[in-house]
Amino acid sequence: MRAFNFSAGPAQLPYEVLEQAGRELSDWQGSGMSVMEVSHRGAAFIECAAHVERALRDLLAIPDNYAVLFLQGGASAQFAGVPMNLTAPGDTVAFLKTGSWSGKAIAAARAQDVHAEVIADEAASSYTTVPAPDNSTVPPAAAYLHYTPNETVGGVEFGYVPATGAVPLVADMSSTILSRPIDVSRYGVIYAGAQKNMGPAGLCVAIVRKDLMGHARSTTPSVLNYTAMAAADSMLNTPPTFAIYILGLILDWLTESGGLAAQAERNRVKAATLYEAIDTSSFYTNSVAPDARSWMNIPFTLPDPALDTPFLEGADADGLTNLKGHRSVGGMRASIYNAMPLAGVHALTDYMADFAARYA
Ligand SMILES: *Cc1c(COP(=O)(O)O)cnc(C)c1O
Repeated sequence: MRAFNFSAGPAQLPYEVLEQAGRELSDWQGSGMSVMEVSHRGAAFIECAAHVERALRDLLAIPDNYAVLFLQGGASAQFAGVPMNLTAPGDTVAFLKTGSWSGKAIAAARAQDVHAEVIADEAASSYTTVPAPDNSTVPPAAAYLHYTPNETVGGVEFGYVPATGAVPLVADMSSTILSRPIDVSRYGVIYAGAQKNMGPAGLCVAIVRKDLMGHARSTTPSVLNYTAMAAADSMLNTPPTFAIYILGLILDWLTESGGLAAQAERNRVKAATLYEAIDTSSFYTNSVAPDARSWMNIPFTLPDPALDTPFLEGADADGLTNLKGHRSVGGMRASIYNAMPLAGVHALTDYMADFAARYA
């Protein structure tokens, strides 16, 4: 029996993808080897990686003036990698601080000797809001504005793309990429760790506007240097081959199920179903401002923390796993990325109603 896994990451993968990977595991494309055992320099894997890049470009409609990079070190490496590639020491970088991941990005940029100017900080709402679209002025001298479109821990998501004028916009899309169509041309750099919505851990995808490349600091390690990695087709060193292969299966799955517009509609319905169950009960609470509620990560609390353990034990017994909230927030968190079917959300809302009726 497959669980409905509500983990924030590594997250549930599509069943069809796991089945196909399982069928191909010991003999990939008639090679007599698994994809994990073939050379990344061989024709078969090079074609696999090229297919993944094409499929990602098609799904996200990535313009030709953007490079697609397959990197390692997770999104966290890019917290340092972006300033290494886009700034010199002492440059100003603007930030929107909306929760714990943007906070980590700010700290890592400061460690690279940039002057981090936090032009909006949602601390006053305990990070349950996003800044109003016209509420923050980007310093024109900033090397870029960095923001986190979806804050995975707090369950806060931007419903708009910040306007930055000529200043490049950099987005950590780890927990929202591929959840809906986006206009890539609005961004200078997009980066995302794969383990939320794109596949297994170990892979980080970066989409970089080409005119921003070529300015990396001389101290940048080559595996973090966008220009060097692009020149080597992301194979300067051994890439995370299995994670790239699984990403390809996931992109094919998304394409065959109607692309990102269709996926966005499924995600909208799933999130609306869960928020409605929370909002219409007097038992569960989500404290995120309605215009900032995430489609992907939905935290909620019970009326008494003493009920958390029985709630989690009962959920586990029903095959609803990993609902425990982040330690910094408490309560519950249901992460409902692309691979979570609507049936999983219904199973959760049924369980929640049943639990509330028993414990209210
Ligand atoms: C998970 C997450 C990260 C960290 O990703 P790693 O791949 O573990 O480095 C960074 N930003 C956001 C928004 C995340 O959800």
